[in-house]
Amino acid sequence: MHDTSSVLVIGGGLAGLSTALALAPLPVIVLNPASPGRDAASGWAQGGIAAAIGADDDVALHVADTLAAGDGLCNPDVVARFIAGGPDLIARLAGFGARFDRDGAGALRLGLEAAHSRRRIVHAGDATGHEVLRAVHEAARAAPHIRFLAAEARRLVLHRGAVAGVALADGEVMPARAVVLATGGIGGLYAHTTNPRGAWGQGILMAARAGAVLADMEFVQFHPTALDIGRDPMPLISEAVRGEGAWLIDETGNRFMASSAQAELAPRDVVARAVWAQLSAGHRVFLDARTALGARFATRFPAITEICRAAGIDPATQPIPVRPAAHFHMGGIAVDGAGRSTVPGLYAAGECAATFLHGANRLASNSLLEAGIAGLGIAAAIRANPPPTALALPAIPAPATPDPAPVRPIISAAAGVLRNRDDLRDAIAALLDLAETNQAAADPALVGLIIATAAFSRHESRGAHARTDFPERAPTPQHSRLTLVRALNVARGLVGARAA
Ligand SMILES: Cc1cc2nc3c(=O)[nH]c(=O)nc-3n(C[C@H](O)[C@H](O)[C@H](O)COP(=O)(O)OP(=O)(O)OC[C@H]3O[C@@H](n4cnc5c(N)ncnc54)[C@H](O)[C@@H]3O)c2cc1C
Repeated sequence: MHDTSSVLVIGGGLAGLSTALALAPLPVIVLNPASPGRDAASGWAQGGIAAAIGADDDVALHVADTLAAGDGLCNPDVVARFIAGGPDLIARLAGFGARFDRDGAGALRLGLEAAHSRRRIVHAGDATGHEVLRAVHEAARAAPHIRFLAAEARRLVLHRGAVAGVALADGEVMPARAVVLATGGIGGLYAHTTNPRGAWGQGILMAARAGAVLADMEFVQFHPTALDIGRDPMPLISEAVRGEGAWLIDETGNRFMASSAQAELAPRDVVARAVWAQLSAGHRVFLDARTALGARFATRFPAITEICRAAGIDPATQPIPVRPAAHFHMGGIAVDGAGRSTVPGLYAAGECAATFLHGANRLASNSLLEAGIAGLGIAAAIRANPPPTALALPAIPAPATPDPAPVRPIISAAAGVLRNRDDLRDAIAALLDLAETNQAAADPALVGLIIATAAFSRHESRGAHARTDFPERAPTPQHSRLTLVRALNVARGLVGARAA
């Protein structure tokens, strides 16, 4: 029997573990299906964490770059708060024992990534996420207020409109003082993705079923350079490789981005569309680091070198085959400055939350920053709330084990790098049908349906959302907000109109 005084944190990535640590001394239970880190995008991060630390840098410059990438949809107050917290986050992570790359004098080595005007990416080789999560996980393991439970959450349980607990995969219900969703992204809904398989928006759907408002769900970032060797998920070739001067070329050696502004270091959405255009025209695309790095590649990017060599590619002497892949979700559970969702007692942190830091397009390496900082505000807000009175919550029938496989071709065809009305309308109909007829695919289909509905309703191109039938930006940037009920109504309306 679990007691109601614990806060339940769902997800053991950087957002979940950072929140759990920040909640001390309140008792916290962290739910995660596997040993934290193995199935978390946080542990897969290569590039690093953006922080305005360099002598030529300051917070205002980092804020300006973030706002520019976000294409009108960042909340400037949120951006200012998160970006200002970058240097402290790096110090805190180093305090937990994260070993970042440093020069001989002990100063942090800073990398450059696309759309950053300064070198500000704090890294640990090209396996930054692994190192950061190792350190944070060790700190959490040693913290007496944190308990780990190897379990998967499936549903939120409400009492009088507030979240009172969480139902696990077997139907058991755990009561909670408050619930923090930190379940990561949605890339697993796509056929081509860099995300862990389990990242198909489980937390987003739990929140949506509980009535929470979701925001900007249509904004999915596609990374332009996933390694195209037929693996699922696709290994990433970090943007830091382009930061070190690597070029994008086609099979003839044509450097197709050379004449565009910022060339290969343009914002991610621009580069992804340029790569997509080459592929659509029948070309193959490669990342060519031979001139920029050559024999230095293996020293600067040892993990990527290993991945490439396992596929028979030597990046020092050969171009690396790449294509865009679903990588990061800017939208999610709408939260306020303290990580509160619109459902009392429910908070969200990290990639599953829409904090409005990233706007329409995340600036590279700003997501680990967000995941590492979000929990501070959440912890303060939960501490300020009185714990609920103890409730006996009965078990629920065990929900079906979710299977996103049938959703992947549908969402990939319609809500990819380029979108249009007809494809989105067909996808919405197919996803509605899946949600109503296929028990195992129903939950992932509902997440896909919300994304497709939001993409269908946004009649403009902005950031990562590119509509071929609405190629211009709308004059005024606006966030989209949807509930599950509203998305289902839109979907049923569209299907009904087509049948009539
Ligand atoms: C290959 C790759 C490279 C990246 N590189 C960078 C980078 O260099 N810099 C950067 O800033 N960002 C990078 N990102 C993005 C960044 O890693 C993520 O946005 C960030 O780590 C998200 O952290 P999180 O804690 O929200 O989610 P995650 O780290 O994904 O953790 C979510 C956890 O929740 C668990 N979970 C999910 N559902 C449930 C459930 N129902 N019950 C219990 N547990 C559940 C999962 O198993 C997982 O352990 C990269 C992403 C990828 C995929």
